[in-house]
Amino acid sequence: MTYVVTEACIRCKYMDCVEVCPVDCFYVGENMLVIHPDECIDCGVCEPECPAEAILPDSDERAAAWVEHNRKFAQAWPNITRKGTPPPDADEWKGKPDKMQFFSPEPGQP
Ligand code: SF4
Ligand code: SF4
Repeated sequence: MTYVVTEACIRCKYMDCVEVCPVDCFYVGENMLVIHPDECIDCGVCEPECPAEAILPDSDERAAAWVEHNRKFAQAWPNITRKGTPPPDADEWKGKPDKMQFFSPEPGQP
């Protein structure tokens, strides 16, 4: 089992999650983060830290479609362990539906 980052992170990217992960398994894209499913130890401490409620266990049906997305981009993006500056409009995007259309496959800055 693993936890994954889902659509709610897109354009929010608060990064509170990366500070608490004991195994540093978050990876950063231009406008969202992902978790490497093979590195996550399933501790769950990141889930309540996310202001956007974007982190879910893969046992949640809303997360099922996101496991391969997390795996694919965790292999392509740099590792991130420290909280950076969230986007200035992060609060405006929090809770908005259908954000996948804004997803960027480009790597972010750790
Ligand atoms: S805290 Fe939530 S919204 Fe912020 S980067 Fe982590 S998963 Fe994305
Ligand atoms: S569940 Fe634990 S190991 Fe997995 S990403 Fe969250 S904090 Fe890291």
